[in-house]
Amino acid sequence: MRITLLQGDITAQAVDAVVNAANSSLMGGGGVDGAVHRRGGPSILEECRRLRASRYGRGLPTGQAVATTAGDLPARWVIHTVGPVFSPEEDRSDLLASCHRESLRVADELGAATVAFPAVSTGVFGWPLDGAARIAVGAVRAAATRVREVRFVLFTPDAYTAFEQALTAG
Ligand code: ADP
Repeated sequence: MRITLLQGDITAQAVDAVVNAANSSLMGGGGVDGAVHRRGGPSILEECRRLRASRYGRGLPTGQAVATTAGDLPARWVIHTVGPVFSPEEDRSDLLASCHRESLRVADELGAATVAFPAVSTGVFGWPLDGAARIAVGAVRAAATRVREVRFVLFTPDAYTAFEQALTAG
């Protein structure tokens, strides 16, 4: 599998699947989530609503992932995953790694060959970039998946640098 980095907007990526840094309500939010729903149109939210009603009445648990179609985005699917909120007291690294593993597992189920990830949990959820980048890159590298390209799409120069360092470190 190839891991690539790009600074830019994840909603502009023409890949098979775009990963959304969702929250457990699946009802939209700010950051990546806001951008995905704004640009993807109302059909994504409609599918999320159905998922809530059928499978995730209590919300999508942290560390898990679920797919919808991608509406007007130039991708085929959106894989919604819920990152952990950063905690200085409790090590939640496994949950952040799980987001990446589970997203790739869902991508395999869909038959997605190219998948774009944002820097999950590094926005509103407060995860320091360096740590998040190491966990994300490590989890993707360790995953047993048929996905051929994982593209990390980083919004800011700082996020790009953190992922670049994580990629060259190991
Ligand atoms: P979380 O709640 O998991 O922290 P956020 O969406 O708040 O998720 O932020 C995750 C990361 O995504 C942050 O680094 C933020 O700068 C970045 N981001 C925000 N909008 C976009 C976008 N359109 N494309 C790619 N990354 C984005």
